[in-house]
Amino acid sequence: MLAILQGGAYNVREATIGGITLKELAQIASAVQVSSTMAMDALAKQMAADGVDVVGFGAGEPDFNTPDHIKAAAVRAIAENITRYTPASGTAALKQAVCRRVKEDFGLDYQPSQVVATSGAKHCVYIALRALVNPGDEVILPAPFWVSYLELIKMAGGTPVVVSAPESARFKITAGQLAAAVTPRTKALVLNNPCNPTGTVYTKEELAALAKVCVEKDIYVISDEIYCGLLYGGVKTASFASLGEDIKERAILINGVSKSYAMTGWRIGYLLSSEKIAKVMANYLSHSTGSPGSVSQAASVAALIGPQDCVEAMRRAFEERRNYIVSRVNTMDGVSCVKPDGAFYIMMNVEKQLGRTLHGELIQSSDDFSAALLKHGLVATVPGSGMGAPSFVRWSYATSMDNIKKGMDRLEAFLRG
Ligand code: PMP
Ligand code: GLU
Repeated sequence: MLAILQGGAYNVREATIGGITLKELAQIASAVQVSSTMAMDALAKQMAADGVDVVGFGAGEPDFNTPDHIKAAAVRAIAENITRYTPASGTAALKQAVCRRVKEDFGLDYQPSQVVATSGAKHCVYIALRALVNPGDEVILPAPFWVSYLELIKMAGGTPVVVSAPESARFKITAGQLAAAVTPRTKALVLNNPCNPTGTVYTKEELAALAKVCVEKDIYVISDEIYCGLLYGGVKTASFASLGEDIKERAILINGVSKSYAMTGWRIGYLLSSEKIAKVMANYLSHSTGSPGSVSQAASVAALIGPQDCVEAMRRAFEERRNYIVSRVNTMDGVSCVKPDGAFYIMMNVEKQLGRTLHGELIQSSDDFSAALLKHGLVATVPGSGMGAPSFVRWSYATSMDNIKKGMDRLEAFLRG
Protein backbone atom coordinates (compact mmCIF):
# COMPACT_ATOMS: atom_id res chain seq x y z
CA MET A 1 0.00 0.00 0.00
CA LEU A 2 2.90 2.33 0.68
CA ALA A 3 4.66 1.46 -2.55
CA ILE A 4 4.17 5.05 -3.66
CA LEU A 5 6.34 6.17 -0.74
CA GLN A 6 9.08 3.81 -1.72
CA GLY A 7 9.45 5.23 -5.24
CA GLY A 8 13.15 5.71 -4.83
CA ALA A 9 15.92 6.29 -7.30
CA TYR A 10 15.59 5.08 -10.87
CA ASN A 11 18.38 3.12 -12.42
CA VAL A 12 20.10 5.87 -14.36
CA ARG A 13 22.09 3.30 -16.33
CA GLU A 14 18.87 1.72 -17.63
CA ALA A 15 19.19 2.36 -21.31
CA THR A 16 16.50 0.21 -22.89
CA ILE A 17 12.82 1.02 -22.51
CA GLY A 18 10.32 -1.08 -24.44
CA GLY A 19 12.95 -2.12 -26.96
CA ILE A 20 14.04 1.48 -27.65
CA THR A 21 17.56 2.36 -26.54
CA LEU A 22 17.89 5.77 -24.94
CA LYS A 23 20.70 7.64 -23.23
CA GLU A 24 20.66 7.64 -19.45
CA LEU A 25 18.73 10.32 -17.57
CA ALA A 26 20.46 12.97 -15.49
CA GLN A 27 22.08 11.42 -12.43
CA ILE A 28 21.17 14.17 -9.96
CA ALA A 29 17.51 14.19 -11.00
CA SER A 30 17.28 10.41 -11.14
CA ALA A 31 18.54 10.11 -7.59
CA VAL A 32 15.82 12.39 -6.18
CA GLN A 33 13.51 10.59 -3.76
CA VAL A 34 9.79 11.21 -3.82
CA SER A 35 8.55 13.65 -1.14
CA SER A 36 7.05 11.35 1.50
CA THR A 37 4.74 14.11 2.74
CA MET A 38 3.34 14.82 -0.71
CA ALA A 39 3.11 11.11 -1.52
CA MET A 40 1.30 10.28 1.71
CA ASP A 41 -1.08 13.18 1.22
CA ALA A 42 -1.83 12.08 -2.34
CA LEU A 43 -2.38 8.50 -1.17
CA ALA A 44 -4.73 9.50 1.67
CA LYS A 45 -6.71 11.81 -0.65
CA GLN A 46 -6.97 9.03 -3.25
CA MET A 47 -8.17 6.55 -0.62
CA ALA A 48 -10.80 9.06 0.55
CA ALA A 49 -11.90 9.64 -3.07
CA ASP A 50 -12.22 5.85 -3.45
CA GLY A 51 -14.64 5.84 -0.52
CA VAL A 52 -12.20 4.56 2.15
CA ASP A 53 -12.85 6.18 5.53
CA VAL A 54 -9.21 7.24 6.06
CA VAL A 55 -8.25 10.05 8.45
CA GLY A 56 -5.37 12.13 7.08
CA PHE A 57 -2.56 13.48 9.27
CA GLY A 58 -0.08 13.41 6.41
CA ALA A 59 0.45 16.79 4.83
CA GLY A 60 1.05 19.95 6.80
CA GLU A 61 -1.75 21.86 5.21
CA PRO A 62 -4.21 24.03 7.18
CA ASP A 63 -7.77 22.73 6.89
CA PHE A 64 -9.13 26.30 7.11
CA ASN A 65 -10.38 28.14 4.05
CA THR A 66 -8.41 31.15 2.84
CA PRO A 67 -9.94 34.20 4.62
CA ASP A 68 -12.64 36.05 2.64
CA HIS A 69 -10.84 39.40 2.34
CA ILE A 70 -7.90 37.63 0.66
CA LYS A 71 -10.14 35.78 -1.78
CA ALA A 72 -11.94 39.06 -2.55
CA ALA A 73 -8.61 40.68 -3.47
CA ALA A 74 -7.96 37.87 -5.94
CA VAL A 75 -11.41 38.26 -7.49
CA ARG A 76 -10.77 42.00 -7.84
CA ALA A 77 -7.40 41.32 -9.45
CA ILE A 78 -9.04 39.08 -12.05
CA ALA A 79 -11.75 41.67 -12.76
CA GLU A 80 -9.09 44.34 -13.16
CA ASN A 81 -7.12 42.14 -15.58
CA ILE A 82 -4.13 41.71 -13.31
CA THR A 83 -3.49 38.62 -15.37
CA ARG A 84 -0.18 39.25 -17.06
CA TYR A 85 3.48 38.52 -16.36
CA THR A 86 4.91 40.45 -13.45
CA PRO A 87 8.58 41.16 -12.75
CA ALA A 88 10.31 37.79 -12.21
CA SER A 89 10.93 38.45 -8.53
CA GLY A 90 7.40 39.74 -7.83
CA THR A 91 5.40 42.95 -8.00
CA ALA A 92 6.46 46.15 -6.25
CA ALA A 93 3.25 45.97 -4.19
CA LEU A 94 4.07 42.49 -2.91
CA LYS A 95 7.66 43.43 -2.07
CA GLN A 96 6.45 46.46 -0.12
CA ALA A 97 3.88 44.33 1.70
CA VAL A 98 6.60 41.85 2.67
CA CYS A 99 8.80 44.68 4.02
CA ARG A 100 5.90 45.99 6.07
CA ARG A 101 5.10 42.57 7.52
CA VAL A 102 8.68 41.80 8.62
CA LYS A 103 8.96 45.26 10.15
CA GLU A 104 5.77 44.75 12.16
CA ASP A 105 6.50 41.14 13.11
CA PHE A 106 10.23 41.29 13.81
CA GLY A 107 11.28 44.95 13.68
CA LEU A 108 13.37 44.13 10.59
CA ASP A 109 14.35 46.81 8.09
CA TYR A 110 14.44 45.52 4.54
CA GLN A 111 14.03 47.40 1.25
CA PRO A 112 11.89 46.05 -1.61
CA SER A 113 15.12 45.51 -3.58
CA GLN A 114 16.02 42.86 -0.99
CA VAL A 115 12.82 40.87 -1.49
CA VAL A 116 12.28 38.07 -3.99
CA ALA A 117 8.85 36.47 -4.39
CA THR A 118 8.55 32.93 -5.70
CA SER A 119 5.98 30.26 -6.50
CA GLY A 120 5.92 28.93 -2.93
CA ALA A 121 8.41 28.69 -0.07
CA LYS A 122 9.57 25.30 -1.30
CA HIS A 123 10.93 27.04 -4.37
CA CYS A 124 12.50 29.65 -2.08
CA VAL A 125 14.62 26.93 -0.50
CA TYR A 126 15.72 25.75 -3.92
CA ILE A 127 16.55 29.26 -5.14
CA ALA A 128 18.45 30.11 -1.94
CA LEU A 129 20.53 26.95 -2.25
CA ARG A 130 21.11 27.63 -5.92
CA ALA A 131 22.39 31.10 -5.06
CA LEU A 132 24.87 29.80 -2.46
CA VAL A 133 26.02 26.30 -3.30
CA ASN A 134 28.81 25.23 -5.62
CA PRO A 135 29.17 21.53 -6.48
CA GLY A 136 30.49 19.69 -3.44
CA ASP A 137 29.85 22.48 -0.95
CA GLU A 138 28.59 21.23 2.40
CA VAL A 139 25.30 22.38 3.86
CA ILE A 140 24.57 21.70 7.52
CA LEU A 141 21.12 20.34 8.22
CA PRO A 142 19.82 19.63 11.73
CA ALA A 143 17.82 16.39 12.00
CA PRO A 144 14.90 15.79 12.26
CA PHE A 145 14.37 17.87 9.12
CA TRP A 146 11.58 18.62 6.68
CA VAL A 147 11.84 15.98 3.93
CA SER A 148 12.49 18.42 1.12
CA TYR A 149 15.64 20.03 2.53
CA LEU A 150 17.81 16.94 2.09
CA GLU A 151 16.77 16.39 -1.51
CA LEU A 152 16.94 20.10 -2.37
CA ILE A 153 20.52 20.34 -1.08
CA LYS A 154 21.48 17.41 -3.31
CA MET A 155 19.51 18.85 -6.23
CA ALA A 156 21.58 22.03 -5.90
CA GLY A 157 24.77 19.93 -6.10
CA GLY A 158 25.55 20.28 -2.41
CA THR A 159 26.50 17.69 0.18
CA PRO A 160 24.17 17.55 3.19
CA VAL A 161 25.90 17.28 6.56
CA VAL A 162 23.27 16.09 9.01
CA VAL A 163 23.62 17.13 12.65
CA SER A 164 21.44 15.22 15.08
CA ALA A 165 19.09 17.14 17.36
CA PRO A 166 17.87 14.43 19.73
CA GLU A 167 14.48 14.27 21.40
CA SER A 168 16.24 14.53 24.78
CA ALA A 169 17.43 18.03 23.70
CA ARG A 170 13.89 18.90 22.58
CA PHE A 171 15.16 18.44 19.01
CA LYS A 172 17.51 21.42 19.14
CA ILE A 173 21.13 21.58 18.04
CA THR A 174 23.63 23.51 20.12
CA ALA A 175 26.18 26.08 19.04
CA GLY A 176 28.90 23.55 19.96
CA GLN A 177 27.41 20.95 17.63
CA LEU A 178 27.17 23.49 14.84
CA ALA A 179 30.79 24.62 15.28
CA ALA A 180 31.98 21.00 15.29
CA ALA A 181 30.17 20.29 12.00
CA VAL A 182 31.78 23.17 10.10
CA THR A 183 34.60 22.29 7.69
CA PRO A 184 36.43 24.39 5.09
CA ARG A 185 33.78 23.21 2.60
CA THR A 186 30.80 24.39 4.65
CA LYS A 187 28.74 27.00 2.86
CA ALA A 188 25.56 27.29 4.86
CA LEU A 189 23.30 26.15 7.67
CA VAL A 190 19.65 25.42 6.94
CA LEU A 191 17.59 26.21 10.00
CA ASN A 192 13.83 25.84 10.26
CA ASN A 193 12.39 27.74 13.22
CA PRO A 194 9.66 26.87 14.25
CA CYS A 195 10.54 23.45 12.92
CA ASN A 196 8.75 21.03 10.67
CA PRO A 197 8.57 18.15 11.72
CA THR A 198 9.28 18.62 15.46
CA GLY A 199 7.46 21.86 16.33
CA THR A 200 10.66 22.96 18.08
CA VAL A 201 11.10 26.69 18.68
CA TYR A 202 14.54 28.13 19.44
CA THR A 203 14.74 30.99 21.96
CA LYS A 204 16.35 34.25 20.94
CA GLU A 205 19.40 33.38 23.06
CA GLU A 206 19.79 29.96 21.42
CA LEU A 207 19.54 31.56 17.98
CA ALA A 208 22.09 34.20 18.96
CA ALA A 209 24.55 31.45 19.94
CA LEU A 210 24.06 29.75 16.54
CA ALA A 211 24.36 33.10 14.75
CA LYS A 212 27.67 33.77 16.52
CA VAL A 213 29.07 30.52 15.13
CA CYS A 214 27.82 31.36 11.61
CA VAL A 215 29.57 34.74 11.75
CA GLU A 216 32.79 33.38 13.31
CA LYS A 217 33.00 30.54 10.78
CA ASP A 218 31.78 32.77 7.96
CA ILE A 219 28.91 30.63 6.74
CA TYR A 220 25.52 31.64 5.41
CA VAL A 221 22.23 30.69 7.00
CA ILE A 222 19.06 29.82 5.17
CA SER A 223 16.48 30.54 7.84
CA ASP A 224 13.08 29.10 6.98
CA GLU A 225 10.61 30.96 9.21
CA ILE A 226 7.40 29.92 7.48
CA TYR A 227 5.79 28.82 10.77
CA CYS A 228 6.71 32.04 12.62
CA GLY A 229 3.03 32.94 13.09
CA LEU A 230 2.30 29.65 14.84
CA LEU A 231 3.70 29.79 18.38
CA TYR A 232 1.95 28.38 21.45
CA GLY A 233 1.91 28.72 25.20
CA GLY A 234 3.25 32.28 25.11
CA VAL A 235 6.60 31.10 23.71
CA LYS A 236 8.69 33.75 21.97
CA THR A 237 11.38 33.54 19.33
CA ALA A 238 13.18 35.88 16.93
CA SER A 239 13.98 36.14 13.28
CA PHE A 240 17.54 35.07 12.55
CA ALA A 241 18.20 38.34 10.74
CA SER A 242 17.29 40.39 13.82
CA LEU A 243 20.36 39.16 15.70
CA GLY A 244 22.85 41.66 14.33
CA GLU A 245 24.12 43.22 11.12
CA ASP A 246 26.82 40.57 10.60
CA ILE A 247 24.33 37.76 10.58
CA LYS A 248 21.74 39.73 8.62
CA GLU A 249 24.27 40.02 5.76
CA ARG A 250 24.73 36.24 5.83
CA ALA A 251 21.04 35.36 6.23
CA ILE A 252 18.51 34.42 3.62
CA LEU A 253 15.09 34.49 5.27
CA ILE A 254 12.30 32.36 3.86
CA ASN A 255 8.64 32.83 4.51
CA GLY A 256 5.34 32.57 2.67
CA VAL A 257 1.60 32.76 2.89
CA SER A 258 0.79 29.01 2.83
CA LYS A 259 0.73 28.26 6.53
CA SER A 260 -0.22 31.50 8.34
CA TYR A 261 -3.02 32.47 5.94
CA ALA A 262 -4.23 29.00 4.86
CA MET A 263 -3.06 29.66 1.29
CA THR A 264 -1.21 26.47 0.33
CA GLY A 265 -2.71 26.32 -3.15
CA TRP A 266 -1.92 29.93 -4.06
CA ARG A 267 1.81 29.16 -4.29
CA ILE A 268 3.48 32.31 -3.00
CA GLY A 269 6.66 32.34 -0.94
CA TYR A 270 9.27 35.03 -0.43
CA LEU A 271 12.93 35.49 0.40
CA LEU A 272 14.71 38.38 2.12
CA SER A 273 18.46 38.81 1.87
CA SER A 274 21.22 41.25 1.07
CA GLU A 275 20.67 43.06 -2.20
CA LYS A 276 23.54 41.17 -3.82
CA ILE A 277 22.07 37.74 -3.05
CA ALA A 278 18.55 38.94 -3.96
CA LYS A 279 19.80 39.95 -7.39
CA VAL A 280 21.39 36.55 -8.02
CA MET A 281 18.17 34.81 -6.95
CA ALA A 282 16.01 37.12 -9.08
CA ASN A 283 18.17 36.44 -12.14
CA TYR A 284 17.88 32.70 -11.56
CA LEU A 285 14.10 32.98 -11.24
CA SER A 286 13.83 35.01 -14.42
CA HIS A 287 14.90 31.87 -16.32
CA SER A 288 13.21 29.22 -14.21
CA THR A 289 9.69 30.21 -13.21
CA GLY A 290 9.43 33.55 -15.04
CA SER A 291 7.22 35.11 -12.38
CA PRO A 292 4.84 33.89 -9.67
CA GLY A 293 1.11 34.00 -10.48
CA SER A 294 -0.16 37.58 -10.76
CA VAL A 295 -3.52 36.87 -9.09
CA SER A 296 -1.86 35.00 -6.23
CA GLN A 297 0.51 37.91 -5.71
CA ALA A 298 -2.42 40.32 -5.43
CA ALA A 299 -4.10 38.01 -2.92
CA SER A 300 -0.87 37.76 -0.93
CA VAL A 301 -0.63 41.56 -0.69
CA ALA A 302 -4.09 41.53 0.92
CA ALA A 303 -2.97 38.78 3.27
CA LEU A 304 0.19 40.57 4.37
CA ILE A 305 -1.16 44.09 4.82
CA GLY A 306 -4.77 43.28 5.70
CA PRO A 307 -6.20 42.48 9.14
CA GLN A 308 -4.14 39.88 10.97
CA ASP A 309 -6.86 38.63 13.32
CA CYS A 310 -7.47 35.66 10.99
CA VAL A 311 -3.91 34.49 11.70
CA GLU A 312 -4.53 34.71 15.44
CA ALA A 313 -7.87 32.85 15.18
CA MET A 314 -6.21 29.97 13.33
CA ARG A 315 -3.27 29.98 15.73
CA ARG A 316 -5.63 29.61 18.68
CA ALA A 317 -7.40 26.68 17.01
CA PHE A 318 -4.04 24.99 16.33
CA GLU A 319 -3.01 25.48 19.95
CA GLU A 320 -6.18 23.77 21.19
CA ARG A 321 -5.54 20.88 18.81
CA ARG A 322 -1.90 20.63 19.89
CA ASN A 323 -2.92 20.40 23.54
CA TYR A 324 -5.44 17.68 22.78
CA ILE A 325 -3.27 15.49 20.51
CA VAL A 326 -0.26 15.70 22.85
CA SER A 327 -2.29 14.72 25.90
CA ARG A 328 -3.94 11.81 24.07
CA VAL A 329 -0.65 10.41 22.69
CA ASN A 330 1.03 10.69 26.06
CA THR A 331 -1.70 8.69 27.81
CA MET A 332 -1.19 5.71 25.47
CA ASP A 333 1.18 2.87 26.30
CA GLY A 334 4.26 2.47 24.12
CA VAL A 335 4.17 5.80 22.29
CA SER A 336 4.98 9.33 23.42
CA CYS A 337 5.72 12.80 22.17
CA VAL A 338 7.36 16.02 23.26
CA LYS A 339 4.92 18.92 23.58
CA PRO A 340 5.94 21.20 20.70
CA ASP A 341 5.95 25.00 20.96
CA GLY A 342 5.14 25.84 17.35
CA ALA A 343 4.16 24.80 13.78
CA PHE A 344 1.45 22.09 13.58
CA TYR A 345 3.20 18.77 13.92
CA ILE A 346 4.03 16.27 16.61
CA MET A 347 6.77 13.68 16.39
CA MET A 348 5.49 10.48 17.97
CA ASN A 349 8.23 8.26 19.35
CA VAL A 350 7.56 4.66 18.23
CA GLU A 351 10.80 3.11 19.47
CA LYS A 352 8.91 0.80 21.83
CA GLN A 353 6.83 -0.50 18.93
CA LEU A 354 9.84 -1.75 17.00
CA GLY A 355 9.97 -5.54 17.12
CA ARG A 356 6.26 -5.87 17.93
CA THR A 357 3.77 -7.62 15.69
CA LEU A 358 0.65 -5.52 15.25
CA HIS A 359 -2.33 -6.86 13.34
CA GLY A 360 -0.13 -9.55 11.83
CA GLU A 361 2.52 -7.08 10.68
CA LEU A 362 6.06 -7.11 12.07
CA ILE A 363 7.03 -3.53 12.90
CA GLN A 364 10.72 -3.01 12.27
CA SER A 365 10.77 0.65 11.32
CA SER A 366 8.70 3.82 11.33
CA ASP A 367 7.80 3.00 7.71
CA ASP A 368 6.35 -0.34 8.85
CA PHE A 369 4.47 1.43 11.64
CA SER A 370 2.95 4.08 9.34
CA ALA A 371 2.08 1.46 6.72
CA ALA A 372 0.38 -0.80 9.27
CA LEU A 373 -1.45 2.12 10.86
CA LEU A 374 -2.77 3.13 7.46
CA LYS A 375 -3.73 -0.39 6.44
CA HIS A 376 -5.28 -1.56 9.70
CA GLY A 377 -6.15 1.69 11.47
CA LEU A 378 -7.06 3.82 8.42
CA VAL A 379 -4.93 6.67 9.71
CA ALA A 380 -2.39 8.41 7.44
CA THR A 381 0.83 9.68 9.03
CA VAL A 382 4.33 10.26 7.67
CA PRO A 383 7.20 8.01 8.79
CA GLY A 384 10.22 9.83 10.19
CA SER A 385 12.66 7.78 8.11
CA GLY A 386 12.75 10.45 5.39
CA MET A 387 13.19 13.17 7.99
CA GLY A 388 16.32 11.87 9.68
CA ALA A 389 14.19 10.49 12.51
CA PRO A 390 13.84 6.72 11.98
CA SER A 391 12.11 5.99 15.32
CA PHE A 392 9.41 8.63 14.90
CA VAL A 393 6.16 9.11 13.06
CA ARG A 394 4.97 12.61 12.19
CA TRP A 395 1.37 13.70 12.70
CA SER A 396 0.15 16.99 11.27
CA TYR A 397 -2.63 18.34 13.46
CA ALA A 398 -3.71 20.89 10.85
CA THR A 399 -7.00 19.05 10.63
CA SER A 400 -10.32 19.34 12.42
CA MET A 401 -10.75 18.47 16.09
CA ASP A 402 -13.26 15.78 15.05
CA ASN A 403 -10.65 14.17 12.83
CA ILE A 404 -8.03 14.39 15.55
CA LYS A 405 -10.36 12.68 18.05
CA LYS A 406 -11.18 9.99 15.52
CA GLY A 407 -7.51 9.51 14.65
CA MET A 408 -6.50 9.21 18.29
CA ASP A 409 -9.27 6.67 18.98
CA ARG A 410 -8.07 4.66 16.01
CA LEU A 411 -4.44 4.85 17.13
CA GLU A 412 -5.44 3.63 20.59
CA ALA A 413 -7.34 0.68 19.13
CA PHE A 414 -4.50 -0.07 16.68
CA LEU A 415 -1.89 -0.17 19.46
CA ARG A 416 -3.90 -2.80 21.34
CA GLY A 417 -2.79 -5.11 18.51
N1 PMP B 1 9.24 25.16 4.51
C1 PMP B 1 8.70 24.32 5.39
C2 PMP B 1 9.41 24.06 6.65
C3 PMP B 1 7.47 23.69 5.12
O1 PMP B 1 6.95 22.85 6.01
C4 PMP B 1 6.82 23.95 3.90
C5 PMP B 1 5.53 23.25 3.63
N2 PMP B 1 5.34 22.77 2.40
C6 PMP B 1 7.44 24.84 3.01
C7 PMP B 1 8.65 25.42 3.34
C8 PMP B 1 6.89 25.15 1.67
O2 PMP B 1 5.71 25.86 1.72
P1 PMP B 1 5.02 26.38 0.39
O3 PMP B 1 5.81 25.85 -0.76
O4 PMP B 1 3.63 25.84 0.44
O5 PMP B 1 5.03 27.86 0.46
N1 GLU C 1 5.19 21.22 4.24
C1 GLU C 1 4.08 20.35 4.30
C2 GLU C 1 4.49 19.04 4.95
O1 GLU C 1 5.58 18.90 5.40
C3 GLU C 1 3.36 20.16 2.99
C4 GLU C 1 3.86 19.08 2.08
C5 GLU C 1 5.24 19.38 1.57
O2 GLU C 1 5.38 20.32 0.83
O3 GLU C 1 6.15 18.69 2.02
O4 GLU C 1 3.66 18.18 5.05
